[in-house]
Amino acid sequence: MPQHRRDGQGHPEGPRFRLKQALVAAALVVPLLAGGCAPGPEAGGKAPGTGDTAGASGSAGAKDGRPLVLTTFTILADMARQVAGERVRVESITRLGAEIHGYEPTPSDLKRASGAQMVLENGFGLERWAQRFYAGLPEVPHVTLTEGITPLPIAGDAYQGKPNPHAWMSPRLAKVYVENIRRALTRLDPAGAATFQRNAKRYSAELDALDRELRTSLARIPPGQRVLATCEGAFSYLARDYGLTEAYLWPVNAESQVTPQRMARLIALVKERRVPAVFCESTVSAEPQKQVAKQSGARFGGVFHVDSLSLPDGPAPNLLELQRHNVETLQAGLAGS
Ligand SMILES: [Zn+2]
Repeated sequence: MPQHRRDGQGHPEGPRFRLKQALVAAALVVPLLAGGCAPGPEAGGKAPGTGDTAGASGSAGAKDGRPLVLTTFTILADMARQVAGERVRVESITRLGAEIHGYEPTPSDLKRASGAQMVLENGFGLERWAQRFYAGLPEVPHVTLTEGITPLPIAGDAYQGKPNPHAWMSPRLAKVYVENIRRALTRLDPAGAATFQRNAKRYSAELDALDRELRTSLARIPPGQRVLATCEGAFSYLARDYGLTEAYLWPVNAESQVTPQRMARLIALVKERRVPAVFCESTVSAEPQKQVAKQSGARFGGVFHVDSLSLPDGPAPNLLELQRHNVETLQAGLAGS
């Protein structure tokens, strides 16, 4: 975990936003908002060399005159779009279905990032791969959306004690992301403050409703059967919120080699707790977990979405549907249906 990403932890201002970068970003955005593609006099004077980024030079940020905000993965893009509405263009650096922990940025990713006015990242050590972006784009601010959240530590192996990055899987904590997004977008586009405020309020209310819905659904599983056995240890926050026991084959996907010890440990737990079904996630191979199922007598219960949304016509086109899909899949598996 790079130290510079944690030093603002718990700061009352929310996401750390370097002032110098904020000023550069503001200089970029002002002409866009004030007069479409016509560069304002301030931009020409104050931000030499950055006018091309915001102007009509063919960069990604100039496609429709709106500022471009990149997120490091698709779930953050969904959350940012909920808050941004139509005012800001939001795109994910990683594609649908990509493995996001050990991602290798491509040259086209870097090119696209050069047209962005801001990058929204998860933090908690998830985007080690994004350091290349930040090193190459010192003028583009990056905002950490887990700012203000107390992380749960990862238990086990090389990641022992490091923060578990999957905080978006708690609807309650997802509201902290929403507030951090709202603040970041407001600094980027002050004229949109009221829109972002309204959108964030609506989306937070939807997350509250989702929290109640998941709590009610999961309470129907008999307490002794509330075991969520899957490939990655990505459900720690969700398990804590709703009183589930989490079991997994590996702590995080970047360290996803299956060892005989890990398999044996999970098989033993599945047998001991008589867990009827085990699961895996959409961004990794389910084969090892199917082996666990075979050797433990459990069924393979299906695929969760955690690190990526599905295609728009799939089961997890946004974070709310992703959560519903996962809980329904878990319930169906544990009920033996
Ligand atoms: Zn993950």
